Amino acid sequence: MEIFKKIAPLKAFLEGIRRSENTIGLVPTMGALHNGHLALINASKAQNSVTICTIYINPTQFNNPRDLEKYPRNIDRDLELLQTAGCDVAFCPENAEMYESKPHLKFDFGSLGNVMEGKHRPGHFSGVALVVSKLFNVIRPDNAYFGQKDWQQFAIIQQVVQELKFDIKLHSIPTLREQDGLAMSSRNLRLSFHERPKATVFYKALLEARKDLRMGEPISKVKERVSEIVGKTAGASLEYFEVAESKNLNVLEFVNGAEMPILCIAGYIGEIRLIDNMFLK
Ligand code: AMP
Repeated sequence: MEIFKKIAPLKAFLEGIRRSENTIGLVPTMGALHNGHLALINASKAQNSVTICTIYINPTQFNNPRDLEKYPRNIDRDLELLQTAGCDVAFCPENAEMYESKPHLKFDFGSLGNVMEGKHRPGHFSGVALVVSKLFNVIRPDNAYFGQKDWQQFAIIQQVVQELKFDIKLHSIPTLREQDGLAMSSRNLRLSFHERPKATVFYKALLEARKDLRMGEPISKVKERVSEIVGKTAGASLEYFEVAESKNLNVLEFVNGAEMPILCIAGYIGEIRLIDNMFLK
């Protein structure tokens, strides 16, 4: 596996790849890799001649400085995992390489960015869009792979690709879960031994909510039930539970007539913030 820390040699390397009509698949990550990330690598490997995984903890997408400081980091293990998974290229830049100076560009996604994650993490999606745009410009992949776990992020990146006319096909990969249903996440590493079993509450709440909605319960009732389920778990707190139209993230009051509703949840176990989602159908 080729490992790059600087943009210029990476670009030169990829130029050679493109000349021989190979396709390039990109998997952007913040490291502390788990099987969810590896599912994206595998999807890319199946569809491209060359797969590149980026490992970069992007400071501009963190609205909480403590979250940035405590974000799990383990680059040596990550590189070993990528090597074993058969990833072709790893790009692990330092901050100075990605941000030569304080960035000024800001993205405003309107209603897409004002709900759920956008509402509770001000500036988050602007930072995501900025770093993903930089990676798209530097790497110029044919395909890019993202996880369904961050569904709103996927919708935001679709908007970026459409408006900035990036010639890149985006792919969303289903969420990989632990045996007990907890969505895999780098932040799970921060859960204590006692917190870890409680973290399944969000998955369980989604399952219950989906069952109730499928039986025709109104969303308002289902929201009450989700609050109740999360409230009963000591140390857990609910930040939001919404049912939205998955293509534009419009928050729904009724599921009748909606095309492809998605149930989205976010909350805390202690000080660890977790998110999850599930399609209704
Ligand atoms: P992160 O390193 O958390 O920024 O995630 C990098 C990419 O991996 C994003 O596209 C995530 O949506 C995706 N991802 C994270 N967790 C999972 C998971 N459990 N299953 C599938 N994809 C995931």
